[in-house]
Amino acid sequence: MHADSINFDIAWKQSRYDKEGPGGDKAAYVNCPMDQAQYEAFIAALNAGAKTEFKDWEKDTPYFEGCLPIEVMAERGPETLRFGPMKPVGLMDARVGKRPYAVVQLRQDNKLGTLFNMVGFQTKLKYGAQEEIFRMIPGLENARFARLGGIHRNTFLNSPKLLDSTLRLKAEPRVRFAGQVTGVEGYVESAAMGMLAGRFAAAERLGCALEPAPHTTAFGALLAHVTGGHLTDGKGSFQPMNVNFGLFPPIDAPTHGPDGKKLKGEERGRAKKLAMAERALGDLAGWLAASIAPAPGPP
Ligand SMILES: Cc1cc2nc3c(=O)[nH]c(=O)nc-3n(C[C@H](O)[C@H](O)[C@H](O)COP(=O)(O)OP(=O)(O)OC[C@H]3O[C@@H](n4cnc5c(N)ncnc54)[C@H](O)[C@@H]3O)c2cc1C
Repeated sequence: MHADSINFDIAWKQSRYDKEGPGGDKAAYVNCPMDQAQYEAFIAALNAGAKTEFKDWEKDTPYFEGCLPIEVMAERGPETLRFGPMKPVGLMDARVGKRPYAVVQLRQDNKLGTLFNMVGFQTKLKYGAQEEIFRMIPGLENARFARLGGIHRNTFLNSPKLLDSTLRLKAEPRVRFAGQVTGVEGYVESAAMGMLAGRFAAAERLGCALEPAPHTTAFGALLAHVTGGHLTDGKGSFQPMNVNFGLFPPIDAPTHGPDGKKLKGEERGRAKKLAMAERALGDLAGWLAASIAPAPGPP
């Protein structure tokens, strides 16, 4: 979800047992607290929520027990989640001076800090049900979701660890990857990674250096995410990514319309996206101009 849609009047930052992360941060997680009634209502909503049905040929594929969908855990018993990803141990809601009954933890998803993911929240609930049920979580009443949860079998590389910024295998740079296998998702994203891999390969063959596309463009933002921007925790938290505005560096968007009126809510969001898109087009044109190979000189 987009970081700026989390309600920090309710949610707070704290790592379990204030344990320091690798970067020395004792508050690497955002915690959304629930009391007993809120937790019970949440479990009931999960059990009742519309789920995606498996096709016949998928039915026998076992789940990976280490990361079961939340609705499957809820089905196993009302307390399962409270002893799983929603356990409140080691956390203190300082505003009410006690440990919450249950907690949903969010973790920063990109270096920019504009996106957060829900820890341990795999799900095959239908998208509409996800938005409705996840907004029941205190602190997420107005959450805007950049990517909803889904389950399908997908084979992809742990690219933040394995690939360099031009999609080469660090351990064997003559091998370059393209498309979905790099950890992107979707037709356009896969084609974009194919085009980038092709341009990098061509530039290398022609002996001219080609910088990765700027982070301010969709090509560059996605490439930067899969080849390093994702905060990898070494436990396989890297998941395929669609392109979305949360991957772009922030921008000072207009606060007032052409008529001088202050922009509000959705209008402001639209103005911000437009400003990001205009910046992207300008920067992409610059990158493309710089990346045209010089004509070979006379023999
Ligand atoms: C059910 C479903 C619905 C989807 N719906 C959408 C959607 O609505 N919108 C959207 O944007 N995206 C959607 N996607 C995702 C999208 O299809 C993929 O992200 C995209 O097609 C990936 O493109 P790709 O070229 O990287 O990989 P692929 O399309 O998977 O192409 C890889 C190719 O490599 C071939 N191959 C594999 N191994 C070998 C080998 N050893 N030798 C030779 N060839 C090999 C495969 O046969 C395949 O043709 C959907 C995916 C699924 C599964």
